[in-house]
Amino acid sequence: MSLKVSSVSKNYNTQKALSEVSFTVERGQIIGFLGPNGAGKSTMMKILTGFLKPNSGDVFVDNIDVLENAIEAKQNIGYLPEHNPLYLDMYVREYLQFQAGIFKVDKDQIETCIVQVGLQSEAHKKINQLSKGYQQRVGLAAAILHNPKVLILDEPTTGLDPNQLVEIRELIKELGKDKTVLFSTHIMQEVEAVCDRVIIIKKGKILVDKKLSELKENNIQNIEVTFDYKIEEQFIKRLPNVVSFKNNYDTTWYITFESEEDMRPKIFDFAQENGLKILGLNTQNKNLETLFREVTA
Ligand code: ADP
Repeated sequence: MSLKVSSVSKNYNTQKALSEVSFTVERGQIIGFLGPNGAGKSTMMKILTGFLKPNSGDVFVDNIDVLENAIEAKQNIGYLPEHNPLYLDMYVREYLQFQAGIFKVDKDQIETCIVQVGLQSEAHKKINQLSKGYQQRVGLAAAILHNPKVLILDEPTTGLDPNQLVEIRELIKELGKDKTVLFSTHIMQEVEAVCDRVIIIKKGKILVDKKLSELKENNIQNIEVTFDYKIEEQFIKRLPNVVSFKNNYDTTWYITFESEEDMRPKIFDFAQENGLKILGLNTQNKNLETLFREVTA
């Protein structure tokens, strides 16, 4: 088992941050760790990485007891904390050499990691000269220097622009090919694009722990479509498998279908049969978002 958390509770004085949290993660899974602010995500991550001790419970990383053997456990954990605390005045290589020293890692590994996170073109610069996206890459490079089996990433994409966001997301997916990754985020599309499983936590308790495939099994498809001119409601009703629909604005409709079949080709056929042109079509998989709102509201 890559991660095993058993009945972990944590209080900060009188504040209860985690209450009897238990979950296990198999090797190679990418887990999206979701929850509103203050839910206990960072606390759980700090406990998993040996930076905080719980009041009660057990934590194992790659079958090593983090509370008993913190140093040994940390050799198997890569951690990118929230807000990526880097030494901004250091050069990228200098910082990675410093980190490599802490982990007693061979210096050759630095160049391997620079390539792995796509930092080649920026590696000669000072960290404070890098964009936020590249700074995140430095944080990720530092987290994987010692080739850990488990990566814990606390909101790794927060504050990135849309391009950087996609790039870091891809990088996490790539790293997840041979590592177990637990990462927290507020972006549902990110979870849907990257994760195998989602854990939702609120007020220190796990509310949902599901594989993404299980969430998708209900066959609900939400599609936003814009035609080239306004049509009447009864036209939309002619589409098969429609559960509900809403005229969002003018020529744009938000339609919910329930079907095993992908409804997008059906919409194209429908448009053609009715002499309409499609100006825009957007699949909005709201399953996870809806679930998140339902359970955390
Ligand atoms: P999240 O990462 O989901 O936003 P946190 O783990 O940071 O949640 O926080 C969980 C709860 O614990 C919050 O109510 C927060 O205010 C509280 N908390 C976190 N760190 C501390 C601390 N060092 N001292 C006191 N309370 C804290």
